[in-house]
Amino acid sequence: MEDALEKLERMSAQMTLEPAEEHAPASNPHATAACGHTPADLARAFGTASERTSVSVKEPKKNSLGIHHAIMPGGQRIALLKTMLTTVCERNCNYCPFRKGRDFRRATFRADEMASVFAQLHRSRVVEGLFLSSGVAGGGPSTQDRLIDTIDILRRKQGYRGYVHLKLMPGTQRDQVHRAMQLADRLSINLEAPTQPALTRLAPMKVLIEELLQPLKWAAEIKQAGPPRGSLTGRWPSLATQFMVGPGGESDVDLLAMTQTLNKKVGLQRAYFSAFRPLTDTPFENLTAENPWREHRLYQASFLLRDYGFEFEDLPFGKSGHLPLDADPKVGWARMNLTETPVEVNKADRRDLLRVPGIGPRGVEAILRERQRGTLRELGDLRKLGVLAQRAAPFVLLDGRRPPAQLALM
Ligand code: SF4
Repeated sequence: MEDALEKLERMSAQMTLEPAEEHAPASNPHATAACGHTPADLARAFGTASERTSVSVKEPKKNSLGIHHAIMPGGQRIALLKTMLTTVCERNCNYCPFRKGRDFRRATFRADEMASVFAQLHRSRVVEGLFLSSGVAGGGPSTQDRLIDTIDILRRKQGYRGYVHLKLMPGTQRDQVHRAMQLADRLSINLEAPTQPALTRLAPMKVLIEELLQPLKWAAEIKQAGPPRGSLTGRWPSLATQFMVGPGGESDVDLLAMTQTLNKKVGLQRAYFSAFRPLTDTPFENLTAENPWREHRLYQASFLLRDYGFEFEDLPFGKSGHLPLDADPKVGWARMNLTETPVEVNKADRRDLLRVPGIGPRGVEAILRERQRGTLRELGDLRKLGVLAQRAAPFVLLDGRRPPAQLALM
């Protein structure tokens, strides 16, 4: 019988890093498929034989097992095993390599088997965290039960207390969401699209509100109902989702409106945007890949909404409902709003400072501290505080004067 490490290796040949955790995905060219996989990497991996070697737990080949470095919210890097309970799937998402009927060799773990092999890898210091997803096999709730069982065994029998990012399956039930929240550090469910028509084009069997949004709503309700009693992590998990960008025909307005709604209504911590890339032997294999700059602009805009106090209405959408590809949305907003009325760095409040390109949350705090000591007069004063001074220059006043600005930056 195929051993667990062999299966991990084979899964790794079929899936790799999705832009998860707080890894800076804007620079990551890899798109993400529905239940947590990356079509770009899969496109490269499929069709090539997995490099099969004999591996031991003591000395496994990390990359061949699907181990990647993820950046945690505090900046810490951890070796994260990204894998699946099964690559069998009964659904037919049009972009996904795991869709039913696609011809490739699939692999399945039992819950105790996955928990055991991960615990061994962890004890051997090969991995420090787990990202666990799955194809849908036997229905969403049944698949979710097996995912939950895996983490439950890992936490209770194997005594693992480290990081777990667990996927919620389409159609997961409320009690399963609650149980998953007691076990994981992060939960995510891939919405794929912001509207049902766009979702149907991508994933004909998925239902946006009942199957995908409802588990996020339950998670928010459970969090609001009280402290994390029964939690094995001592806190409620963060929530994340992912959108497939391009073939659904959705607009950036659609995507960012949904993101902002989820930020506000369910406390979504992270939305991932994955520019579509076609994969052979799928219904979308002949579609054109989405421009990766679109993914990049969506990330920038989502950070403005989440971290910079921007409102949805502030974003510089064009008539098509998309963000301009040739300009950072913060710069686009500043050109329209700050060119004639620049921000006086020595007087502006936190909110106005955050709107200036080149000034981030840390820069704002540094400026506010420095203002108590004296007046900021030169771009060099800003530079010393970690501000991207040339980027900010066209949109600020320093002690009543416009600083010399060089290029208009994107
Ligand atoms: S439900 Fe199945 S086919 Fe659809 S994205 Fe998930 S793994 Fe792929």
